Amino acid sequence: MHTNLLIIGAGPAGYTAAIYAARAGVTPTLLEGMQPGGQLTTTTEIENFPGFPDGIDGTELTDRMRAQAERFGVSILPRAVVNSHLDERPLRVSLDDGTDMTADTMVIATGASAKYLGLPDEKKYAGMGVSACATCDGFFYRKKTVAVVGGGDTACEEADYLAGLAAKVYLIVRKPFLRASEIMQRRVMENPKIEVLFETNTEGLYGENGVEGAHVVHRRGEADERHYDLPIDGFFLAIGHTPNSAPFAQWLETDETGYILTEGASPRTNIPGVYAAGDVADPHYRQAICAAASGCKAGIEAKQYLVEHNLL
Ligand code: NDP
Repeated sequence: MHTNLLIIGAGPAGYTAAIYAARAGVTPTLLEGMQPGGQLTTTTEIENFPGFPDGIDGTELTDRMRAQAERFGVSILPRAVVNSHLDERPLRVSLDDGTDMTADTMVIATGASAKYLGLPDEKKYAGMGVSACATCDGFFYRKKTVAVVGGGDTACEEADYLAGLAAKVYLIVRKPFLRASEIMQRRVMENPKIEVLFETNTEGLYGENGVEGAHVVHRRGEADERHYDLPIDGFFLAIGHTPNSAPFAQWLETDETGYILTEGASPRTNIPGVYAAGDVADPHYRQAICAAASGCKAGIEAKQYLVEHNLL
């Protein structure tokens, strides 16, 4: 199958690229990937996306973007890219169903995925008390005790959300301070259900048929280092993300973490006709509105590329 514009990823970057390109006369194909809607579907209420003064649910926002893309004729397929051949013209990708697709231009908007601590117990208890998505799994911990790991905005947001369901939330922070924005810090510190455990690291989890607690250490490596067990029913990771650039990394310039490098403020990669938009190319801002903006630029650039190369 061939398309003039292949958009990979169904978050705000991918949908915005699709909407702009489709309204400009291109007929894009968008691949939804493993997590249609992207990270917005794993967040709670979105209060900082302009145009929604009362906030909007993350899944509803992406559903609306999807409907908007479909309205302009974007073809949306439930497929993920497993490998790419960006040295060929047309560009070629291999999909998770074993087929290949070719494209004249491409927008990579594959986002980023949650990181884990790397403890063997995270795998042992996967789906049995360990989660990286409070919105997806918080429901199972109503009136229970949970811990969230991390000190950034994601961790604070997850702790705040879980506090609405659980009886008690511990926020396990490795530093003596939170890195989150002031408003989120305040929300966490003022919530009576949340207890912040500063200078604390997790060393393992325990439990018979699921998580019953975490082995933690306070002030590791210091003279007053203290090991203890924290009884919890759920363990939520919120320690940052890894960009989903692996299927393309062989061809594209990336930073040491794998974020795709683009030319200045544009979404242009080192390969002409290949653009990167959203969190896969943004280690810094990582906001839905920023992803949408870079998707807009990528949609406009892709259209220009097709016109300049007589491919439309
Ligand atoms: P951040 O990188 O900002 O924070 C990661 C947190 O996890 C830090 O506190 C870090 O600790 C901790 N951490 C990392 N690795 C480990 C580890 N191995 N063990 C223990 N703790 C660890 O990631 P976020 O996902 O929170 O945020 C990413 C970006 O997205 C930020 O720019 C943030 O502002 C933005 N964001 C904005 C939101 C909003 O405005 N509504 C919501 C969510 C995210 P340390 O500080 O010690 O490095």
